[in-house]
Amino acid sequence: MQNLNSAFQQLTEHMSETALLVSIESLLGWDERTMLPPAAGEYRAEQITYMAGMMHQHRTDPRLGEWLNTLVAEKLDPHSDEGATVRELKRQYDRRVKLPQSLVEELARTSVLGQQAWVTARAKNDFASFKPLLEKTFKLKREAAEALGYEETRYDALLDDYEPRGRTSQISKVLADLREKLVPLVAAIGASGRKPNIDILTRQYAVVEQEQFAKHVAAQCGFDFQRGRLDVTAHPFCSNNGPHDTRITTRYDERHFPGAFFGVLHEAGHGIYDQGLRSECYGLPPGEAVSLGIHESQSRMWENFVGRSRPFWQHFYGEAQRRFSPALADVPLADFYWAINVVRPSLIRVEADEATYNLHVLIRFELEQSLVADDLKCGDLPGAWSEKYRHYLGIVPPNDAEGVLQDIHWSAGLVGYFPTYSLGNLYAAQFFEQADRDLGGLDAKFSKGEFEPLRNWLHEHIHRPGQCYTADELIQRVTGKPLSHVPLMNYLKRKYGALYGL
Ligand code: ZN
Repeated sequence: MQNLNSAFQQLTEHMSETALLVSIESLLGWDERTMLPPAAGEYRAEQITYMAGMMHQHRTDPRLGEWLNTLVAEKLDPHSDEGATVRELKRQYDRRVKLPQSLVEELARTSVLGQQAWVTARAKNDFASFKPLLEKTFKLKREAAEALGYEETRYDALLDDYEPRGRTSQISKVLADLREKLVPLVAAIGASGRKPNIDILTRQYAVVEQEQFAKHVAAQCGFDFQRGRLDVTAHPFCSNNGPHDTRITTRYDERHFPGAFFGVLHEAGHGIYDQGLRSECYGLPPGEAVSLGIHESQSRMWENFVGRSRPFWQHFYGEAQRRFSPALADVPLADFYWAINVVRPSLIRVEADEATYNLHVLIRFELEQSLVADDLKCGDLPGAWSEKYRHYLGIVPPNDAEGVLQDIHWSAGLVGYFPTYSLGNLYAAQFFEQADRDLGGLDAKFSKGEFEPLRNWLHEHIHRPGQCYTADELIQRVTGKPLSHVPLMNYLKRKYGALYGL
């Protein structure tokens, strides 16, 4: 027992140092994406590469392996804080020691330079200038996957970074079930002949008002501005830089209301999860998010299931009309509600509606599997992209900036990340259905501006356990069922059936 206690104490002390390194690296990354002067990019790449090397050394320290081996032998309850700490750290350690430090550093450097090349390529609509870095990224990712090893497909090894224990075969199955039901729904909406007036959303919306309104609503939903900030960036994100430092970002367009508003709600949803984790466990698995799929379920829940619902706007619409007059002065709530829920095939994923969104994700999921398998060459990517858009959504991008260059992910080395967006929608629907049942109906609460019951429910069931349960265990434990496409399809059919008279 003496041995055991001392091993656990040494382990947690070591991990608190790792957490310092991780949070410093995260802050450098936040600054890189929001504040960095253009000429500072190369040196920042060196700073981040150096930190990545330090973190890797720390996480693969042989002493860590010894402490973990001592603790694993004790067979702790895997769902207790101690047991989950040992289980998850052992898993991460066993993965990381397989990666050579040189490859980790090369991946970090390539991801920073790749993001910088992507920003220029996207602005100039110049895929050719980005292609060499993209090829290098996928080459390094294939090397990493081979070093990590896998049971079914090479893609699984990469997916695991974002969705621990996720399997490509399982995700493909649930997304295929979803697609089978979704494509006819989108077609029926298109054939309904009904269309909202979306021009009301591109009237004049002053940026200052947009910022104040979005901050007010995010705070009402539960984002704590004493422990977080909202800033401006080209590509919105949320980053957690410490137990009380959660940063969210957005971009404003005075001629497009939904972009920033729902973007802020989305990132605030991520932020509410991060802020709901137990700060005393910061840097240890019980104080960390389960997976990106679970993380995305929190952002999509606040953005869509709450933020695009009718009761939510029954509460906030009067204030929106006051702030955005004359833009909304003559617009009835019903027209506004329909406009922010328009369904139509579009080119840009982050602006896609709830019904077509998962088709955008499916396209990327399929393409990156082919790139990782080396069945598709980077040079053929723009053509393959267009072909998939024609096939799934019936539209073709007029240029690469609105096509293959729109997302930051591959440039940043985030390969295997995209399916977590769809997992997020599926988890969100299943959790929301359960919360609605447990709390005796959320609509009446939202229409009175009461968001605390949902937030507390999320804290209790999803945020505070951290990684004490895996994603599969959590969905089963909270909803009594494994993940399925049914709750999401029921939600979409009910909501859009009513709007489009289906
Ligand atoms: Zn997100």
